[in-house]
Amino acid sequence: LPESSNSLQAYAKDKLSDQMVELFEACQQQACDLKRKEVCRAQLQLDIQRVYAGARLYLTGSSMNGLGCRSSDADLCLVLKGKVSFTVLKTTATTINLMMFLCFIAYVERTQLIRAKVPILRFREKGSDLQFDLNVNNTVGIRNTFLLRTDLRIRPMILVVKKWARHHQINDASKGTLSSYTLVLMVLHYLQTLKEPVVPSLQRDYPECFNPFMDIDIVPEGPKHIPPYKSTNQSSLGDLFRGFLRYYATDFRWDKQVISVREARALPKINSQEWRNKYICVEEPFERNNVARAVHEKAKFDAIKAQFAESCRILQERKDLNSILPVRAVI
Ligand code: ATP
Ligand code: MG
Repeated sequence: LPESSNSLQAYAKDKLSDQMVELFEACQQQACDLKRKEVCRAQLQLDIQRVYAGARLYLTGSSMNGLGCRSSDADLCLVLKGKVSFTVLKTTATTINLMMFLCFIAYVERTQLIRAKVPILRFREKGSDLQFDLNVNNTVGIRNTFLLRTDLRIRPMILVVKKWARHHQINDASKGTLSSYTLVLMVLHYLQTLKEPVVPSLQRDYPECFNPFMDIDIVPEGPKHIPPYKSTNQSSLGDLFRGFLRYYATDFRWDKQVISVREARALPKINSQEWRNKYICVEEPFERNNVARAVHEKAKFDAIKAQFAESCRILQERKDLNSILPVRAVI
């Protein structure tokens, strides 16, 4: 995973880009962070197998896809009997059972159930600040974790965007703003739709590697055979970040377009149940539902748009990351 920062320097020849690299290097997940998550995952899997024989526990999300910060939680997906066809009722019942069970595990504390469309068990490793979010059989999170093959610039771009959004309080789906996953897809969409794209659509170009029905155990293997994508785009990190803010502040039509990373373009918003009356439409690349459905209040939507506009304006005038994100404070 770790790219040499030397090669990243090629995209960081101005102050803003330099600051982005600095922030990235200070905040990106370290090998020891991943190791800690992995040790905990392996132990939990052993313990859970005492009640659910044959269950498999996968680390997913930013811990695994190269987009993690040192402070990122560890997302876990528990796969029971390798079957995806669990009913919602059964998934919820299993999650609640599991919550009871976790209460008796010595190295777990502060377990809570989050009642979202996909129920989540949130808990901490005892005595540490490591937080876990566990779901049962929501295997789409495993599939989309391996969808990403990164150009050098993607990881710093996404890390800076996540920090920026969190700083401005627009990165919390439980408070009606954008989830990290939504932000990731928004960045990828912008990078895919540039005149010279920085990111391809792997699903469009290699459909056989991303068949949504592929057995979950071989999902991590599929993308390994895809040759690296070579972009002709030489833009600096700073230019890409400014372009990202500008795209959503002025070009993107929130009321008429759906972001589709699957097709590497903006789709026209048709009047289907998934998109009707939604302020922000971002398609999940496998399930094709709206990952931004948490944004359901006009006031929150307006605040998100206003933040894009304001930061875009400020960064246009002052080419300094600190003007929109105090770097020292977030490291
Ligand atoms: P952070 O570093 O802030 O934790 P993250 O990339 O882990 O960011 P989360 O919002 O924690 O993002 O989501 C964790 C993972 O769960 C995502 O990377 C994705 O694989 C999956 N996921 C999250 N939301 C959805 C969704 N609505 N539909 C499908 N998969 C999702
Ligand atoms: Mg996460």
